[in-house]
Amino acid sequence: MDAGDNFAYMLPVMMLTFACAFLVVARWGSRPALAWGMGYLCAGCGFAAPMVMSAFPTVVMALTADTLLLGAMYLFGQALLIQFGMPSYAALRMSICLVGGMLVTFAVLGRQSLPAELILHDLTSSLMLAVPLVAIRRRLQQPIHKALFVIVSLVVLDTMIRTAITAAVMAPSADTAGFIGSPYAFYMQATASVLGLVLALVALAAVTLDVVATYRDAAEHDPMTGLLNRRGFERASPDAARGRPSSGAVISCDIDHFKSINDGYGHGAGDNVIVAFAQMLRSHLPQHALAARFGGEEFVAYLPGHSAHTASLVAEGLRRAFNARDWSDCGIQRSITASFGIASPQPGDHSLHDAIARADTSLYAAKAAGRNRVMLGEQVVRRAGSALAAA
Ligand code: GH3
Ligand code: MG
Ligand code: MG
Repeated sequence: MDAGDNFAYMLPVMMLTFACAFLVVARWGSRPALAWGMGYLCAGCGFAAPMVMSAFPTVVMALTADTLLLGAMYLFGQALLIQFGMPSYAALRMSICLVGGMLVTFAVLGRQSLPAELILHDLTSSLMLAVPLVAIRRRLQQPIHKALFVIVSLVVLDTMIRTAITAAVMAPSADTAGFIGSPYAFYMQATASVLGLVLALVALAAVTLDVVATYRDAAEHDPMTGLLNRRGFERASPDAARGRPSSGAVISCDIDHFKSINDGYGHGAGDNVIVAFAQMLRSHLPQHALAARFGGEEFVAYLPGHSAHTASLVAEGLRRAFNARDWSDCGIQRSITASFGIASPQPGDHSLHDAIARADTSLYAAKAAGRNRVMLGEQVVRRAGSALAAA
């Protein structure tokens, strides 16, 4: 067995192994992983065709391998487009695939020309990868996505170089038997092995990281309101991560007599009120503020770089807007109120939780004082123009 034979065996084994790995990731709900997996399955079978179909006529074996490899390219393109949230450009890519496939078939059956078959097959393959590359070029945010773009570009480049070499050096009458032992076949299988391996590794890393990011996002957000949950808030708060926040302000909020809304109008109406409060909270907060639903109808916001004074004005604006909202669209024929407590991190605090605890104390004071108010420390906040006044 010579080096060429080694590559011939290595390629299908490697590609079928990666197909299995992608299909495992696809079971976690990744659609691009499914397309990559099916692509590598086709590619593995395509590269295995010359070995497993030795009993068949050469043209049958060649056309089977060509069809499977073009199918793999179509699926790789599909995987890239799904991964970057692009339309599938199915009509364009399918047309390239069909026209290229027909020309390859003509080269095999009509002209019986190996160079023509290789050139047409390689050109079709590079076009089928070039279309998704152009489509996704502006969507590369993560380093792993940039790496994927670079490696797919290298595959296209390698395929084009191969096309040029084939056109320049291969005799039009070259046959398959002579081709298999040729330096050209060795070069083709060597580069396909290396690039196929790197592409598979990078694509596998990209789909796995995307799946992890999706699960982490779900684990850190409240599905009902889309706000951060307590875990997400902990991770997103830079001051909390460093343990000693020195600036910013915290707003702690709780909807008043919420149980009576559930009891009077049903749990569904209560859910609508929670979602509406979350939307209003988000829209009242300054840019870069963090908003989280800590539990039932309890919310916490952190305003980095803002004073407790500013936070109390924000909370007072939200309190008024929430109180003034008409709930008839939710089937609720009464006004609803919420109470707020404000606090700032202090020197000597161990973490942002100390400020949250003080904001909670002010919130309880607001409840005890009759609800529907904002309290900063032990003082009720009223907005008079843009000035803060304690009542
Ligand atoms: P207070 O003014 O003192 O805050 O009174 P409250 O009724 O708002 O507070 P309480 O803690 O007694 O009741 C909170 C209720 O919120 C109890 C619980 O059933 C309800 N709740 C918790 N989570 C959800 C939810 O996701 N949806 C709905 N609809 N209700 C919820
Ligand atoms: Mg409440
Ligand atoms: Mg509560």
